[in-house]
This record gives sequence, structure tokens and C-alpha cells, in this order.
Amino acid sequence: MLLPIRGKGLARAAANLRREGRTPINRAMSETAPQKRLYIKTYGCQMNVYDSERMADVLAPLGYGMTDDPANADLVVLNTCHIREKATEKVYSELGQIKLMKAARAEAGHAMTIAVAGCVAQAEGEEIMRRQPAVDLVVGPQAYHQLPELIARAHRARGERLAADFAPDEKFDALPARRPAGVSAFLTVQEGCDKFCTFCVVPYTRGGEWSREPASIEAEARSLAAKGVREVTLLGQNVNAYAGEGGLAALVRRLARIEGLDRIRYTTSHPRDMDDALIAAHAEVDALMPYLHLPVQAGSDKVLKAMNRAHTAESYIRLIERIRAARPDIAISGDFIVGFPGERDADFEATLQLVREVGYASAFSFKYSRRPGTPASAMPGQVATEVADERLQRLQALLVQQQQAFNAAQAGKTLPVLFEKAGRHPGQLVGKSPYLQAVHVSAPDRMLGRIVPVRIESAARNSLAGALELESA
Ligand code: SF4
Repeated sequence: MLLPIRGKGLARAAANLRREGRTPINRAMSETAPQKRLYIKTYGCQMNVYDSERMADVLAPLGYGMTDDPANADLVVLNTCHIREKATEKVYSELGQIKLMKAARAEAGHAMTIAVAGCVAQAEGEEIMRRQPAVDLVVGPQAYHQLPELIARAHRARGERLAADFAPDEKFDALPARRPAGVSAFLTVQEGCDKFCTFCVVPYTRGGEWSREPASIEAEARSLAAKGVREVTLLGQNVNAYAGEGGLAALVRRLARIEGLDRIRYTTSHPRDMDDALIAAHAEVDALMPYLHLPVQAGSDKVLKAMNRAHTAESYIRLIERIRAARPDIAISGDFIVGFPGERDADFEATLQLVREVGYASAFSFKYSRRPGTPASAMPGQVATEVADERLQRLQALLVQQQQAFNAAQAGKTLPVLFEKAGRHPGQLVGKSPYLQAVHVSAPDRMLGRIVPVRIESAARNSLAGALELESA
């Protein structure tokens, strides 16, 4: 059974949808049939009319369609104007009416979110929420592109999640028992994302962050180990935001106690959620492999801010230092986006500089591509394809160089290799090093599923080759 450790209202929200005759569906961003009702009251000038239309555009990918009946709206936005006398008092008076509708709706089992936007929101700020607690959020005229994120936060604050488009508890309960294909298996522990990076569709398509209950994860891990799995990779869109008791570090320690489960990995992590307990686990838990995929995306603080990444280049580098102090041999992997809107030469140079400072064992790098409905897709300063291509080539050349150097540094060492499958050549097995490198070795089939010391003899860009240490042959 999967419990929604954050966002306890999912099942309730899904039930509400059903009661209202609406089906919770897993929907694609760009072709969303409205599932929720949005009422916007616009005060003042044409600018505000335009802003209201854009707010509707920003909210459409979340499944909001317009209604002219505030009493039946899931989301009410008052897009206010400050120009007339007593404008603020008019807004408070209107809010008094909406509050009654919200209460009536709550009694009928339906939620309503109230947002105040526009100039009064700008002028009064959170004073509005203090004076009228029924208001869930305020958003100024320069920030309405953040509405999806602010709504998500407001929903979380009252124990709901952003989009009831699927129910992980039901999903995990309904899945049949795993039949692992080999000695290494994935294990989902968390889904969804609340980070709202401006280039990414995940928070819209997968909803807010959810964590499975530790006992349920442990049961699945035990069952996998009983079927011969020696290594699990814990999966989550934001796996280190895992919110079970004690966070991901406690989960790793719990799973490390399972007999036969010798290796634990996790992916994908966000720098913001890399806490001290998890760093300590890297120092103290033998089963936790010395490999960490920690996307940074860019090395320019200006670009990171535009991406809404909530970290700077400096804070990321300091974080890597702390992780390396705990586990000096850890292999760091990353994700990069080049050609993000507004990225100039100097910003790209900052990315190269960060890569040089960190030193990556492996990385994924991409050219920015527009995702409909995301804030970045509408940002000015879209970078020309040729420029982005050229930057990507330069970045990848550096990353490949670093990956080769990391692999070459293993030559001459003896590494424990978990043999997973037969290699392409007769008598050859392929396994994984602790650093997630493929290792090709001449070895008998009986070594499959075993962790065996291998002397590394040579390194290529994507793999290592070695020989069994004599005593294990
Ligand atoms: S890039 Fe990752 S952290 Fe950012 S919104 Fe997407 S899933 Fe969340």
C-alpha cells in the first residue's frame, strides 16, 4: 500500500472529481481537455484584460478551463486594479462574497483556491492574506507566470496536490509482484515534482511530489532480493526529496540491512534536497554506491535563476565539496542544458568553468528545446540553433574528456564488479563497477549475479576491461 506522505488529498481530490462526474486522467500538457474550472474577474484597463488572458493560458496546461460562475470554480482569480479610489476596499468586499462561495463549496466537498492578482496584490502583498484568510495566494503583475507553482504551494499547504491525474497508491497496489529480469532492478520510491524548473513539464504532467511508504518499499526490496536481485536503484523524479520518515537517508539505511541486497543507488536528485543525512549515508553505508547523479543544468547564476533552479553555481560547487569530503572517491554525474533563453557567451563560459571545477565522471547534455506551456518557452532571448549547437559540441567535448580521464584513472585498480549478463564475445561477462561503469571481463557464467574483484586493465570512453583477480577465478 502506498501512502501519500505529502499531499494527502490525492485520493480525496480524485474522489471529488469522480463525484463531480469528472474522470481523473493522465493528461498530456498541450492537448488538455479542461478538468477544472477557472473564474477570473478582471478590474481596470486593457492591460489587465490582457494579463487575465495570459493567466488563463498559463493555467490551461494544468487543466483549467474558463467558467463565468465563481460559485462553481476550482480556482478564482481577482485580477485587480489600483487606479480607482477605494479599489482596495472593493477587492476586500468582493473577497467577502467569494469567501462565502468557498465555504459553500467546501461543505459540498469541493475545494476552491482564491488568488488575488494585479496591482492591488502588488501594493498590498501578503497583507491581503492576513486580512482575508480565505485567500490562498497573491501574485503581482510581473509574476503571474509563476501561478502554477504558487497554486501548487497553496494546495500543498492545505494537504492537497497539484493535479489529480493519477493515483500512485492505487497504481502501486494494483501492480503485480515484480519478476526481476536480472540482478539489478529499479524500485520507484517517489514520484512527481514541486520544483517547477521553467523548462520542464514534469510538475504539470506528473503532479506534485509523492513518496511511497517505507514499509511498502522495504517489502518490495525484500521480495526483489529473494528473487536474486543484488542491486536496487531507487527511482524518483526528485528522489532525494523522498519524504518518508527520516528522508532518503533513513530509507537507504533501512534497505541496506536487507540480506543479499549489496548495492543501493538512487536517481535523480535535486541539489536543493541533498541534505546532511544523505551525505553522511554516503560516508557510512557500504551498500550505498559511490555514484551520484546531481544535475546542475548550467553554470551561470543568471541562467540558473531564469531556470528557477533554486541553487547557484557556487552553492552547487560547495555541495559537491561536502559530498566529496564524505566520500572522496564518489563519481559525480550531471545534466546540462545549453542555449537556454537568454544564455550569452559569458553564461556558457560559466558552465564550462563549473564543469572544470567539478570534474564529472559522466554527464547528459542537451540543447534547450521549447516545451509548450512552460514559462521558458515564452521567454525572450531564445538562442539561435547554430549557436546552441556549437556550445553543445564544446561542452560535450569537455565532458567526454573528463569521462575518459575518470575511466582511465581506474586502470590498475581492483574494483568489485557485479556481473549482470553475458558479453558480446564468447566467455565474456559484463558487470558494473561501484561507479556505474560497464566492465568487460573473461569469466565463467557461474560468476553471474556475484560481486567479484576485478583488476582493471584498460579503459575506454564508456567502459572498462579487466581480469578476475586470481583468488576469485
Ligand atoms: S527538471 Fe527535475 S527538478 Fe526541475 S521541474 Fe523537472 S523534474 Fe522537477
